[in-house]
Amino acid sequence: MKYISTRGDAKPRAFCDILLEGLAPDGGLYLPTLYPHIDSATLTKWRGLPYADLAFEILSLYIDDIPPGDLRALCRKTYTAAVFGSEAIVPLKPLEAGVALEALSNGPTLAFKDMAMQLLGGLFEYELARRGQTLNILGATSGDTGSAAEHAMRGKRGINIFMLSPNGRMSPFQQAQMFSLQDANIHNLAIDGVFDDCQDIVKAVSNDLAFKRAYRIGTVNSINWARLLAQVVYYFAGYFRVTTANSQPVSFAVPSGNFGNICAGHIARMMGLAVDRLVCATNENDVLDEFFKSGTYRPRANAETHETSSPSMDISKASNFERFVFDLLGRDGARVRTLFDVDLREKGSFTLTRDEFARIAGFGFVSGKSTHADRMATIRDTWQRFGRVIDTHTADGLKVGREHRRNGQALLVLETALPAKFAETIREALGREPERPPGFAGIETLPKCFAVLPADVNAVKCYIEAHV
Ligand SMILES: *Cc1c(COP(=O)(O)O)cnc(C)c1O
Repeated sequence: MKYISTRGDAKPRAFCDILLEGLAPDGGLYLPTLYPHIDSATLTKWRGLPYADLAFEILSLYIDDIPPGDLRALCRKTYTAAVFGSEAIVPLKPLEAGVALEALSNGPTLAFKDMAMQLLGGLFEYELARRGQTLNILGATSGDTGSAAEHAMRGKRGINIFMLSPNGRMSPFQQAQMFSLQDANIHNLAIDGVFDDCQDIVKAVSNDLAFKRAYRIGTVNSINWARLLAQVVYYFAGYFRVTTANSQPVSFAVPSGNFGNICAGHIARMMGLAVDRLVCATNENDVLDEFFKSGTYRPRANAETHETSSPSMDISKASNFERFVFDLLGRDGARVRTLFDVDLREKGSFTLTRDEFARIAGFGFVSGKSTHADRMATIRDTWQRFGRVIDTHTADGLKVGREHRRNGQALLVLETALPAKFAETIREALGREPERPPGFAGIETLPKCFAVLPADVNAVKCYIEAHV
């Protein structure tokens, strides 16, 4: 399997060559040259597999430059009951008849990003060792991504991680999840500023090509193809749990921000899995809902991005979205370049033609939006009717998922975080504390390891120079 860019660069690249990279040189995102089609006999064989072995089967279709024995061992080391809390790895939590949550948030940081990041940690360590290289990962976080990345990379040979976060602006729980890590390769940098300052610093450092090369700076952001690939697996796993035959249609509702999670569902569907609808749920930051309803994609300015009670979906632009558009437009790289490189830059938005817009239905996408009041109502209702406490992002998915549910068809709502991470909103909705999984009691009181730095590019560069 080879990889090409969404903006027309068709030079074929191997999986391990794009694994450690971000954007393609032409500014596009990497995608495989094709999606392997899974026939019914193979699906039947996959039904009975443990999660780690299902992951191996799917990954091995896209990764041919890691020996199969090594890849299988990596999958088995990653997807264990010890790390993800159960043998099922992604167990279902039933609600009303035909509707269930697919629990993706029982990894080390209690959010679905662990599903991919834990695998990425293993893949990075493996490939860097094979090349005799090291990597210094630089990132900015306002919560979930940073802690998932740190928990995936902690103790990994050949990898340092420098994670910038806005000083004093994360929740005490989120802060503790990151700052309590004492591993020598983890560097928490609390920046005196807001999240955008952190992100600007990361961009500035990454744009200094000499520094980037000299200090082997890399990233783990959501455009990484391997992250997306790891996420494809749980669409298959969830599908198998609620069906007995390979032709039964199932819909998925996905709380969306950067479009990474739902893009993995799109890929599973392109591989022939009988996914009917992919329900894209947004919060008040409704860039994606607007697109699926109107055909216009208009990323917002930072000032136009709302701070909501489902904060991991507070995005102004959806960084993985270009991958879907590439497929939607028949993989026309020149057209994608016009939309994303020319129209977005010149007009701040693009609009599909009527013809292009009409194709969306064939890809199963529908969308909707959920507000703070909707979240509150959904969290209360789910507690009252089913005795389950759900997190705010999952509530967005559930609310919008039900609006698009087809009678008699199974709907899986992806649970993207546990409520323990968003205690304040749960208190507001239910007047009670969300339960904390074992091992998370009192983490706010653990010793913290972090450095406070000014919002200054040079201060961050000096810190990296002194600590690699
Ligand atoms: C990251 C995140 C999302 C959004 O996922 P995308 O892949 O960016 O669409 C939703 N919910 C939670 C809890 C998250 O951490």
